[in-house]
Amino acid sequence: MNATGKTLRNLSDLAKAELVQPSERVALEQVAARYAIAITPAIADLIDHADPNDPIARQFIPNAMELERHSNESADPIGDFTHSPVEGIVHRYPDRVLLKLTHLCAVYCRFCFRREMIGPQVHALAPAALDTALAYIAAHPEIWEVVLTGGDPLILSPRRLKQIVARLAAISHVAVIRIHTRLPVADPARITPALVRALKTRGKATYVVLHANHPRELSAAARAACARFVDAGIPVLSQSVLLRGVNDDAATLGELMRAFVACRIKPYYLHHGDLAPGTAHLRTTIEHGQELMRNLRGRYSGLCQPAYMLDIPGGHGKSPIGPNYLSVETPGRYHVTDFNGGSHCYPPPK
Ligand code: SF4
Repeated sequence: MNATGKTLRNLSDLAKAELVQPSERVALEQVAARYAIAITPAIADLIDHADPNDPIARQFIPNAMELERHSNESADPIGDFTHSPVEGIVHRYPDRVLLKLTHLCAVYCRFCFRREMIGPQVHALAPAALDTALAYIAAHPEIWEVVLTGGDPLILSPRRLKQIVARLAAISHVAVIRIHTRLPVADPARITPALVRALKTRGKATYVVLHANHPRELSAAARAACARFVDAGIPVLSQSVLLRGVNDDAATLGELMRAFVACRIKPYYLHHGDLAPGTAHLRTTIEHGQELMRNLRGRYSGLCQPAYMLDIPGGHGKSPIGPNYLSVETPGRYHVTDFNGGSHCYPPPK
């Protein structure tokens, strides 16, 4: 149990909680100067102090390896800036935009793909900039879906969220409001009935996409928080990042997907790790990710299957990266691989 009941926000807090050792402090000061730290009591309570490779600790406790930069890494790994027509908006695909409401999160993940753009040191979206962003959405009738992201949009107060959702709902061509969040795991108590009500709006569909990477993140409190959305008629999907030493083994990944489904959360995306600076120690190979996906396909319910996605560096968007089960021998003659690895011919049309 985190004795203070407060979010741990710096190395002194982490040292008091015995989550970093004095010998690590010098290197970690450099990491802390560059990237935000926050570990909520709910997350701190999940960390097993006896396990030096604890998968929860690995996601949130700063590591000196974050100082290692590789030439293929980028401060903007998925090209947000190249698709940002006005502050706060990323318009990469024709029918949807990201609306980045805040740069704050309840917790700061060490692998975050926007780690150079988020944290308390980054300025928030000012009211005038929000007006401009909403005017952009209103002026583009092709925008069918708005994804609220950040940072974590659910960090905002229910009153503020209700206002923003109402303004989006007033735009006739916006049919879907999707909210990307880690809050139900990071701080489940903040998913209050008032917050859930703030996200619902008549005539528009609201979806929540939960970010979680390890089955232990779905604590009893987190499950109850997710149930508050589902019980209110808000569908919940999942997104996870494939992380070395966290969920890159078949049993853990399968257990995570089953935990989602048991919570009425449909597995949506398994992201290959983005090329964010200082995150190489947490990335896997694509081949390993495909092997894990093959294992899921064979051994777990169809409900437990996310799509394995790569956000192409440079802002070219997401593509599914397999594995592929179909090959074309000659035009019209297919080979399909079954879940045991057997190959079968699918006959051409008569
Ligand atoms: S919650 Fe999301 S935006 Fe915030 S640090 Fe984690 S990955 Fe990044």
